[in-house]
Amino acid sequence: FHTLSFSTNRLASLHFTLRFRTMASHIVGYPRMGPKRELKFALESFWDGKSSAEDLQKVAADLRASIWKQMADAGIKHIPSNTFSYYDQVLDTTAMLGAVPPRYGWNGGEIGFETYFSMARGNASVPAMEMTKWFDTNYHFIVPELGPEVKFSYASHKAVIEFKEAKALGVETVPVLVGPVSYLLLSKPAKGVDKSFSLLSLIGKILPIYKEVVTELKAAGATWIQFDEPTLVKDLDSHQLQAFSHAYSELESTLSGLNILIETYFADVPAEAYKTLTSLKGVTGFGFDFIRGTKTLDLIKGGFPSGKCLFAGVVDGRNIWANDLAASLSTLKTLEGIVGKDKIVVSTSCSLLHTAVDLVNETKLDKEIKSWLAFAAQKVVEVNALAKALSGHKDEAFFSANAAAQASRKSSPRVTNEAVQKAAAALKGSDHRRATNVSTRLDAQQKKLNLPILPTTTIGSFPQTMDLRRVRREFKAKKISEDEYIRAIKEEINKVVKLQEELDIDVLVHGEPERNDMVEYFGEQLSGFAFTVNGWVQSYGSRCVKPPIIYGDVSRPKAMTVFWSSMAQSMTSRPMKGMLTGPVTILNWSFVRNDQPRFETCYQIALAIKDEVEDLEKAGITVIQIDEAALREGLPLRKSEEAFYLDWAVHSFRITNCGVKDTTQIHTHMCYSNFNDIIHSIIDMDADVITIENSRSDEKLLSVFREGVKYGAGIGPGVYDIHSPRIPSTEEIADRINKMLAVLETNILWVNPDCGLKTRKYAEVKPALSNMVAAAKLLRTQL
Ligand code: GLN
Ligand code: ZN
Repeated sequence: FHTLSFSTNRLASLHFTLRFRTMASHIVGYPRMGPKRELKFALESFWDGKSSAEDLQKVAADLRASIWKQMADAGIKHIPSNTFSYYDQVLDTTAMLGAVPPRYGWNGGEIGFETYFSMARGNASVPAMEMTKWFDTNYHFIVPELGPEVKFSYASHKAVIEFKEAKALGVETVPVLVGPVSYLLLSKPAKGVDKSFSLLSLIGKILPIYKEVVTELKAAGATWIQFDEPTLVKDLDSHQLQAFSHAYSELESTLSGLNILIETYFADVPAEAYKTLTSLKGVTGFGFDFIRGTKTLDLIKGGFPSGKCLFAGVVDGRNIWANDLAASLSTLKTLEGIVGKDKIVVSTSCSLLHTAVDLVNETKLDKEIKSWLAFAAQKVVEVNALAKALSGHKDEAFFSANAAAQASRKSSPRVTNEAVQKAAAALKGSDHRRATNVSTRLDAQQKKLNLPILPTTTIGSFPQTMDLRRVRREFKAKKISEDEYIRAIKEEINKVVKLQEELDIDVLVHGEPERNDMVEYFGEQLSGFAFTVNGWVQSYGSRCVKPPIIYGDVSRPKAMTVFWSSMAQSMTSRPMKGMLTGPVTILNWSFVRNDQPRFETCYQIALAIKDEVEDLEKAGITVIQIDEAALREGLPLRKSEEAFYLDWAVHSFRITNCGVKDTTQIHTHMCYSNFNDIIHSIIDMDADVITIENSRSDEKLLSVFREGVKYGAGIGPGVYDIHSPRIPSTEEIADRINKMLAVLETNILWVNPDCGLKTRKYAEVKPALSNMVAAAKLLRTQL
């Protein structure tokens, strides 16, 4: 009997798959790293010369095969190919177009690993190409360097090869290409090229190559091609918009006979761009983000070209929450009413590259919390379930399990903390500023701290040795006792304190030896946070980050840093900086809950950090640094939304320290130098001292002040680059400081490296800091 019912079920499910194979579902793109970062390890082993190119290719091919199979098994109709990459999809496009900068010595032919990885990572004689953030994600792409001299040629057949590879496995895919206009808009003029050179003028030179690729794909049997044109969500001018109309008209004859999807993501498409996009020639379907694109639904309601397909991105590719299937289904039905029954395709809001890979590997996660989550593998299943439901074949069991999980998330006591909600709500609208202005405070602080001019300090972390990492790991695994752990960390702090005293640094740090990561360390001690074991997301190349998950109201059960900071302060008579991560940075480097606005979550974190700041002050810590390394990262993609973000972000920072005494000096630190456009917001943070990365772009930063921005707080633009093992000389550092002195008042300038020293070795840190202090002393005698 058992066997019988089993086989009937099998039959039914087989019938099901066959029938629903054709449901309209689509995935924009998929993570490449693998569920356990297989690609990362394969890449690094290849780079280290420990394995061969064939080994790497084998790992990559296996990953691709399993991803395609997984999507096919789930029933996805439009499965992407060419979203795999050994490093980055924009670099892949540069390779496809043969746009290799001459310094890499490429002599034509198909681009292989050597040239490809040299562009990505540099080689013994040539540095890498520049890398920058992909829109507002934490993914970084390699910026194409173009100019009038570039001789484009079809130099990487990857898109076609991967299409054929999937086809050989029996999987029909949609090859994905970075669209020609977005590619140019994301490029920069190569060194030496006139700034006035228009990158878009290269369109006529790259389209012939796109035509070759498309023609080959068509010959190989492709029926759909996806062009990613995400720059359409940015603020574009009419000239830039025209480039889209022009490019796709040019491509029209080549594209005929194929279905063409233009995919956008990360925001809604502005009204003007929407008009341009939906009137493009030769296009079959348009993809939109319905998650971040808050106005997308209204745009569609306002009109959608008849006979075209709408790829509705209702499953969030940027987060880890399970979809609210009932809500999505209702959106989809509304859309269907507008665009027509067979014209709607259920999709993800963007590539799943920006979410974690597979929830199946989260064996340590709390069961209830786990039921609220969906990583890439689960999102694929959600997309298909929605497509089936939309066509009238709802999987009732799947939907009701989802509804139950949604309900449990809404009502779970672990999500809601009334007191926190109330306290955060009370913050809105009010200002939260310290009682006196910054110059009054600096005077009061100077009386107490008695620092020399050009005071020296560091950003927080000191080198993290293998031993140190082992101690932390063993403590976590309960292999060593708490006493042993404390002893080891104390010893490390003592070493760092003594070193700084020997170097004669003025304001000391404890070195952060107890911290694995500046966000995780705090998240682990706050309520409302959960952590994954394998929830990795690609940041760049083989590098991945594992953001904590903020699932509930945030509160601080007890002091987080006071123990170590007081211990460190007791070892020296010099001021010891308390070291905290700010609320905006904690927010921007986590997976944030989607059931309340981001600013509310940020205010809650701010209140927790405020308690910590006040406890540090009570414990006698007189200088407290609150890092906002990632404040700029959260800046929205569109100008019209910047002011709102900056307002609550800066407010959150001020909340953390508005209650301290005048004599308590608040520092903040930022990991970027291009803050010219947000300088007024940074001043509005009202910190007493700001240390910022600067070493790679002196001129840019100083130009703000040269232009007469009034700035009265302390400022420490980094005097040397900690990202490089190079040891700067005293003269070089003194020279830099002199340049700063030409623009900034002597009494506000601080001398410090440009970021934490965590990734460096002592052999580099000691001489570098020693030269830094020597430079400050030298200049003091001259002032
Ligand atoms: N205090 C941190 C450190 O020194 C700051 C790190 C950062 O800015 N990313 O490591
Ligand atoms: Zn930094």
